[in-house]
Amino acid sequence: MLLAHGRSLDVVSQAELLEAPVGAAPDYETTCAASAIAEVARVCSFEDAEDPFTFAITQRALALVGSGLDAAHMDLLVAAFVFKLLSHVGYRPDFSACVLCGDPMLSYFSPQAGGLMCGSCASSVPGAELVSTGEVAWLRALMSMTFDALMAERVDPHTAAFLLGLSHVWAATHTDQRLRAMEFMLGR
Ligand SMILES: [Zn+2]
Repeated sequence: MLLAHGRSLDVVSQAELLEAPVGAAPDYETTCAASAIAEVARVCSFEDAEDPFTFAITQRALALVGSGLDAAHMDLLVAAFVFKLLSHVGYRPDFSACVLCGDPMLSYFSPQAGGLMCGSCASSVPGAELVSTGEVAWLRALMSMTFDALMAERVDPHTAAFLLGLSHVWAATHTDQRLRAMEFMLGR
């Protein structure tokens, strides 16, 4: 990028495109997913704090979005990106056992409580979301598997959209920001 000194602000006089991960004319779903990724990367980035991990994970996620995924895998990718990046900046969910009592029988997700909970503890936490055993396994997979491995898994669209919704409440709660691109992707 070439900047020219202006009277009050500098002026961009020339810019050269180095990389276009989602291509020159991305379709609607690709644009939605790429916007959600960029938005979460933005709220997890801080001025004058260079972070090679955030750059690398965002670059890989955008490259996969641009590689032609179906809608379910697009949702799954963004959900994995959100949980992985939020974990990196300090908001790692606990998917191992009930966050309150350690019970291994998990049936609720609560961003306020910090992860998964058993049924009896969830009754005392407002806003806890019911999750199935299969969804618990998916949440763990989002954290433990690489993007590339996740993209090779079969996932039904309903589950992928549900996981995207959970990742959204996790990110919105812990960054304390409205995430409009994620809301748009979820159709909210
Ligand atoms: Zn419990």
